[in-house]
Formats: sequence, C-alpha cells, structure tokens
Amino acid sequence: MEKFDIIIIGTGAGGGTLAWKLAPSGKRILILERGDFLPKEKENWEPLAVAQGRYKTPEMWRDAAGKEFSPYQHYWVGGNTKLYGGALLRLRESDFEAVEHWDGISPEWPLKYRDFAPWYDQAEALYAVHGARGIDPTEPPASNGYPYPALPYEPRMAEVSAALKKQGLNPAPIPLAIRLPQDHNGRQSDRLHIELYDGYPDPTGAKADSHVVGIQGALQYPNVTLLRSRKALKINTDTSGRRAVSVTVAHEGMAETYQADTIVVSCGAINSAALLLRSANEKHPNGLANSSGQLGRNLMIHNNGIVLAYSAKANPSTFQKAILIPDFYHGADDSPYPLGAIQNMGKADPLLLADAVGDDLGKDGKDAAHFANHIIDFFITAEDLPRAENRVLTDAEGNIQLHYTPNNLEAYRRLREKLIRAMDSVAEIEGVGGSTRYYGFKLGIGGVSHQNGTCRFGDDPATSVLDRNCKAHDLDNLYVVDTSFFPSSGAVNPSLTAMANALRVGTLLYN
Ligand SMILES: Cc1cc2nc3c(=O)[nH]c(=O)nc-3n(C[C@H](O)[C@H](O)[C@H](O)COP(=O)(O)OP(=O)(O)OC[C@H]3O[C@@H](n4cnc5c(N)ncnc54)[C@H](O)[C@@H]3O)c2cc1C
Repeated sequence: MEKFDIIIIGTGAGGGTLAWKLAPSGKRILILERGDFLPKEKENWEPLAVAQGRYKTPEMWRDAAGKEFSPYQHYWVGGNTKLYGGALLRLRESDFEAVEHWDGISPEWPLKYRDFAPWYDQAEALYAVHGARGIDPTEPPASNGYPYPALPYEPRMAEVSAALKKQGLNPAPIPLAIRLPQDHNGRQSDRLHIELYDGYPDPTGAKADSHVVGIQGALQYPNVTLLRSRKALKINTDTSGRRAVSVTVAHEGMAETYQADTIVVSCGAINSAALLLRSANEKHPNGLANSSGQLGRNLMIHNNGIVLAYSAKANPSTFQKAILIPDFYHGADDSPYPLGAIQNMGKADPLLLADAVGDDLGKDGKDAAHFANHIIDFFITAEDLPRAENRVLTDAEGNIQLHYTPNNLEAYRRLREKLIRAMDSVAEIEGVGGSTRYYGFKLGIGGVSHQNGTCRFGDDPATSVLDRNCKAHDLDNLYVVDTSFFPSSGAVNPSLTAMANALRVGTLLYN
C-alpha cells in the first residue's frame, strides 16, 4: 500500500489552507474529504432551494436530551467556506488575554496576538481580503494595509454609515474575502455583480473560499492527491499508541485505509472531536489524544443572532455585506464587560421573510417584497465562554451528540439592544423616526457555523488536547488544524484565525 508523508482530513478553512501551504514542499500529501465538489447549478442562487437545505448535510445530531436536530453544516470540498460570507476578521489583541465577561472569564491563549500577526498578514493576502484599516478602533495592529481596498458602499449603506457616525460610532467596512474580476489591463473591478453571497455557494468562483484558493492551489502540484467522498471513520495508531499510522475511511459502502507519517485532522471543531473520540483504542480508551479528558469539551458556537431592522426608508442594496459596528466589542458606557460585534449580513430574500415578520406580513398592504426592500439585515455575535460541560460526544454508532447550554447571554441581550438603539437613532437622524421595527431570532443549537474549541491548545497536557503547535500532547505525529484549537472564541467570525493558524502550523510541518 502506498504510504503518504502527510494525510490531511478535511478541506475547510483549516485543511484547505494547510494543503495550500504544504503543497510546494514536495511531500506526498493525501487529502481525504467526506464531501464532493459542490455542483455548479442554477439552484446555487435559488434562495428557497438553499434555505431548504440543498447544500446542508442531511445528517442529524442529538442534543443533551437526545432530541434530534439538523446542524447547519456543509460537507463539500471547501467545507463550510463554500457557503460562508467571507467576512475575514482578526481576533482583537485582548482576545488572546484573560478577559472578564458577564458570565465569567474568557481564558488566556498560550500564544499572543503578536505571534499570530504575521500569519494573519499572509492569510489576508492569500484570501484576497478587501478592507480599510484605521477606521475600526478595536482592530489589532497590522504591519500593512489590507491587500485590496474595501468595496465601496452602495448608496443606502453609505447613508446608514454616515448616520451611525453622527452618533459617535465607528462603522467600518467588513473585511471581505473576494476575488473581483479584472479588466483586460489587470485592473480590479470595484463592484461585485453578485447578490447572493453570504450563505450561498458561488458558482463564479469570486468568493475566496478554501476550495478555490486552498485546494485548487494545492492540486497544481503533482505530489498532492485529493480523494473525495471519503468519510474518515477512525485514526489507527501503532501498538505503542504514540504514533498515528493510518486513517480508515468509508467510501461507497466499503472501508479503505490510508497510511502516512503525519496525520492532520481538519474536520471542523465538532467532527474533529468526534473522529478522535471514535478512534479510541486500547492505549487511548477515552478517545485519541484524550488523556486530559478535555477532548470534545469547551465547545463554543458564539451567541449569534439575526436582527432585521425594518424602516420606512427603502434599502435597495444588492450586496449588503457592508458595515461592521465594532464599538461594543470591549464593552459600552453601561457595560464594563465586552458585548460583541455587529455586522451586516446578506439580504434576506422576500421568499424567506414571511416567517421572520410573522403577523406584520400583509398589514397595511405590506407584502414580503415590501419588507425585503425596507429591511437592513444584521448578524450579531457575542462571545460564549468555554465550559467543560459543553461538549461533543459520540454514541456507539459514532453519531454526534452535543451537550450545549448557552452562556454569557447578558452580553448578547445588551448587544442587541445597542443595535436597536443605534438603528432607532439612524431613523431619527434621517427624519423617519418611530417607524423602525425589529425582527429576527437568536441561533439555537443547530447554528454551529462558528463552532470552535473542542481540542484547545495549551502548554499543560493535563488541561489541553494540543500543544502550542497544534500537535496532540499524547501522540508524536497527530495534529488538529481547524477551529478546534481555540481556547476562547472571541466575538469575531472564526475563519481567518483558522487560516492564519494553518499557515503557522504548515510552516512547522513543511520540512
Ligand atoms: C452560511 C455560513 C456563513 C459563514 N460566514 C462566515 C464568515 O463570513 N466569516 C467567517 O470567518 N466564518 C464564516 N462562517 C464559518 C466558517 O465557514 C467556519 O468557521 C470555517 O469554515 C471553519 O473551518 P474549519 O476548517 O474549522 O471547518 P470546515 O470549514 O467545516 O471544514 C471541515 C471539513 O472537513 C470535512 N469533514 C468533516 N468530517 C469529516 C470526516 N469524518 N472525514 C473526512 N472529511 C470530513 C468537511 O466536509 C469539511 O470539508 C460561515 C459559515 C456558514 C455555514
């Protein structure tokens, strides 16, 4: 059987970026991915098809009570980045330190912002991030500007930004991973003619995701092999238990086993933990890399919510992933503790708004199209804190169960209030005061798109799963490179940190 130098399991932000980094090393690299290529088809941009879960896994998970739920998970080459909104933010400097929150302490990281800064630079360059530095007062120091200037706001977003500024807030363009088309002189277009971006696949390839950037880049090298539709079932070790030697996968109902000198797990924080738990053997009775008992614990998914701000003023924006309101990240006038981040999200389609606006639909002749044309969509994120009891478990068949109780909800509640007050003030400044209404909801246990923390890294093998190089403390050649390693979640979207970390760990594995 052919033996590889490195096997990478999973092709998302972590695995796809790591493959890109390692490809030029000449090492024989095998990438195993449970999904296939996401088909380019008309349904990519059909809101109803996407909302009905066409690209979501049909897999069901269970909560602590044993109740089934459908996780917001996408198994494709490129992982969840195929559907992501491409908002690529750095964690703030304070996120690497111990910080007190409404519900307790967010723990310190073993490495600091300065250790990640050069990798953030490289990740932003690789994923073609468009942004503007110096506007967001919470952004951490960077040695250079963004690789590309921020996308210009559409007129309505420019008005909202101006009205937010009048309130003393610091709205900034969301840093976006996007490969804009170039004209025949190689100049970038400043407009993106894509409306459905956040939460949709992008058949044009303009979205800089870990498939088109990472995996396609890696596959230019003859030493890299991608095998799709291979779900990793188990990682096998040698008899000493110190070395991972092979990966057993399911493919078309058959088991296949692949060997390598180094094995990297990049299945996303929940599936990575599940795979290691399923890989228990005589030497690792509680799961591979789990002598600490921490594997699968400290699951964080963020307190994420959608706030739809309806105003009498029309919002004809098409590409609305525009404004970040960072002002409450570290706290507020009436909160000594951090609240979180507020961002625009993609525009809700009229087809999907009926549920959200409920009884208001049809009142005064306002149909779904009216609401869609007047709503500004926001995504708010408050940090959740790592708790040992919030964890990933697997049953005898290997199915996933999440024990997860949200925490730090006071931060979420206050953040939502801040947004409502800010948008009420926008309406007052614009002379349409009193007309603003708010719809939306907080994401529940199925909203795992920001999952992280299940194999946290640290210096003490008794309290962490991985060392600071993301190598399992318990094994000599097993790494986890995705969002699993986060000791805390911060309150920004996780992908850029997973990408930057993959470049960091990739450098260590290169030689
Ligand atoms: C709609 C949506 C919008 C989002 N928007 C943003 C955003 O704007 N900004 C941001 O930073 N983040 C965003 N995210 C979150 C972002 O996509 C994730 O944080 C990121 O993809 C995590 O990377 P990862 O490598 O940890 O895992 P994933 O991207 O989930 O990759 C894991 C990979 O492993 C594969 N896999 C899983 N189990 C196995 C197995 N047993 N065997 C083989 N392969 C396996 C999966 O198919 C997948 O390819 C969004 C997510 C969604 C769903």
